[in-house]
This record gives sequence, structure tokens and C-alpha cells, in this order.
Amino acid sequence: MITQSLVPLRRAALALLLLAGAACASAAPRPTPAPPPSASSRRVIVLGFDGFARRYLDVDSAPALHAFARSGVTTTHGMIPSFPTVTFSNFYALATGLYPDHSGIVNNRFYDPAHDSMFVYKDPIAHESYWWLGEPIWATATKQGAPAATMFWVGSDAEIGGVRPARWHSYDHAVSFSARVDTLLAWLDLPAASRPRLLMGYFEEPDMQGHKHGPDGVETREAVLRVDSSLARLVRGLEARKIYDSVDIVIVADHGMTEISPERVVYLDDVVDSASVHVVNMTPNLMVGARDGDNDALLARLKKLPHVSVWKKNDVPARLHYGTSPRITPIVGVVDGGWMLGWRRGKAYGGRGEHGYDNAVPEMRALFLARGPDFRPGSTIAEFPNVDVYDLLARLLGITAAPNDGTLAPFVPVLR
Ligand code: AMP
Ligand code: ZN
Ligand code: ZN
Repeated sequence: MITQSLVPLRRAALALLLLAGAACASAAPRPTPAPPPSASSRRVIVLGFDGFARRYLDVDSAPALHAFARSGVTTTHGMIPSFPTVTFSNFYALATGLYPDHSGIVNNRFYDPAHDSMFVYKDPIAHESYWWLGEPIWATATKQGAPAATMFWVGSDAEIGGVRPARWHSYDHAVSFSARVDTLLAWLDLPAASRPRLLMGYFEEPDMQGHKHGPDGVETREAVLRVDSSLARLVRGLEARKIYDSVDIVIVADHGMTEISPERVVYLDDVVDSASVHVVNMTPNLMVGARDGDNDALLARLKKLPHVSVWKKNDVPARLHYGTSPRITPIVGVVDGGWMLGWRRGKAYGGRGEHGYDNAVPEMRALFLARGPDFRPGSTIAEFPNVDVYDLLARLLGITAAPNDGTLAPFVPVLR
């Protein structure tokens, strides 16, 4: 059942991975095969821009990103995030090639019955190894002799499968974007033996301004320019080192952003008593269970809500790849794009932008750009699921990918 919706050839491998996942935190690293000699000098930089909707590329003046896209690969309609379209689930899907159902990171906040504990993305508990299943690309690289370095990335604050990147920093939002870029550049100046071959950097914008001011807010436009300037700084640094054309750079976002309004709120208490439910996550994606265990009755009540889709976890549509993890609540729901869920007596949400919706909502489409010696300049690819990025990174590094939910197929036409 777990593998129903996966590429058939990968079923057996994934089943093994899932079995191994539970033991992953305590297992010693496996012996590391030597890297293929031809691959030993390939270098890949991955930049993650939080909440950079694909459409910002069309509406914004972002000179560095536009120049990058012109000389590299862009997408027609963007990259399809995984459901739920939230930060932790998606940056970790990008890193592992696993849907949140299989990666363990089923939301920004969720409950694990096996450990009787809550994962809360901004709390130190998120650094415990047992949450993080699968194998992030920095672990795959490290195990195969390619040193990795992360200047913040979801999951990189934790030891996963007994592995950490050779260099990493504890997440600290106060570190300026320029300092993050300069750290990446400084790592490229290390002596050859310790110089990382995989470098990853994370930036909170334009997500933060997108939440406050909406996807079309002036401040959100400025935040797009801020990350654009970060790319420009990186490019200048690479050009100064005469390596801009010899390193592959992949730029990704975790999800997009859509406008919300106080007029578009659906209230749960119109159909259920708040004391009768255990709500793990509220909006835009609902994770809930009945306190009395009668989830059929709860589902029947929730189905009366307008603008909301709700399912028993086993009945979530296959296209969402969601519902088998024990960390997912008995009932899963999602409100229509641009709507929010709330309690009537609850505090009104102050922001103007949100994500977390069904990944078919067009505004959730995420930025994907790539450029470098392995990519055909000026090429475009159709939309693809973000779990495919892990295989791409493995291919660029010349290493063997761990079993995962993705495929290299979307990139084959644009790879050299
Ligand atoms: P979201 O609430 O889904 O919009 O998540 C975005 C927020 O996630 C950002 O504003 C960051 O503060 C936070 N974040 C991103 N990476 C990390 C990390 N590695 N550790 C803790 N928080 C993070
Ligand atoms: Zn995000
Ligand atoms: Zn956000």
C-alpha cells in the first residue's frame, strides 16, 4: 500500500528504505564506496529561496535571476511542490527525493505516536535524528567521498543516518544574506582536499514578506530583489574566482504564495465542537482526529464545510502521495487556494499571503532554475515534481542516488 503510487521499478528499493528508516537514527554510517574518478572535480551549489513563487519571475524585476535563467534552464510553469506545500516538508523533499509521506517530515508541525512527541519546526526538538528519514543529498555525497557544506538547509541541523555535512551551521535567521553567500564563497577557497563539492544555502525570503504583505505587496517585490542581489553577489564571487562557468548552480523554492483575505475564512466550529477534536495542524492543511475515536462521524461533519476537501488518511487522492505515515492524523483536509481555516473565537490571522494548499493550486508552483556546464543554456522544461531534484543533484555530482520517489527523466532533455 505504501508504494502504490510510486514508480514501479522503485518499489522494492523504497520498501527497503522505509524499513530501514525507523532504525536510521541510530544506525552507523554504511561503508562508503569510492567516488567515480571522472566525477571527482564536479561542484554543485544549491540555493533555496523560501516561498519564491514561479510567477514572481515573470512579474518582478530580478536582473540576476533573469540573466541566470537566460543562460541556463528555466521552467514553463514552475516546479510542483509536494503536499502539504509547507517549508519543512518541501525543502526536505528536495533534499531527499522523498514525498513527505516517506521522508517523515509530514508537515511543519506533527505528532509522532512512536516517540509520543510533537515535531515543531522552529524548536530544538526538530534537531533530533529520529524525525528525519531517508537520505539527504549531503549524506549521499558525504558517504561517496564528496564533501558537503550547508549554509542552513532544512534538516541540516540534525544528524541523519549517522551523517552530517562536513561543514554546517545551526540555523540563525539573523545571519545576513551577504554573510551566507560569503560563507559559500569562502568554502570554495578551501584547500582542494577539504573544499566541498556540494554547497547548499538557504534564504528566508521572499516567504517572510509574502506572508506579511501578500504575493503582490511592494515589500514582497523588495524581498525578491534581496534574494536576487544575493545571487548577484554569488555570481560576482564566482566570476572573480573564474569558476562561474565551471560550477553547476541549482536554484529552488519550496512552494509559492497566494493572497488571503479576512473574507475567505471557513470556521471549523460551525460543524464541530473544538473540545471533541485533536487538531495537530489547522490551516491551510488540516490534520485532525476525533478525541472519542469516531473519525467517521467527524469526517461526515467536516464534509459539510464549504471550500474544504477532507479525507480519511487512507483515502487521500493518490496524486498527493500522502496518507501512509503513522505521523499523519486519521483525517486530513485542505482548504481551497486563498482560503483559511479557523475557529470563530480564535485570533484573526494578520497576514496577507499563505501557502500549505493542495499542490495543484497554481500559485503554489515554485521557482526552479539551473545553470552550469551540465545544462544546455537557454532551455526550458515543463513542470515536474520537486522530488525529482534529488536525482538531478546526484547526477550533477556524479554519485549514486539512494532509492527515492523521483526520477531524472524531466531533466534529460536539458542535460549535456
Ligand atoms: P513557514 O512557516 O512554512 O513559512 O516557514 C518559513 C520559516 O521557516 C522561515 O521564516 C524560517 O524562519 C524557518 N526555517 C527555515 N529553515 C529553518 C531551520 N533550518 N530551522 C528552523 N527554522 C527554519
Ligand atoms: Zn517556505
Ligand atoms: Zn511561509
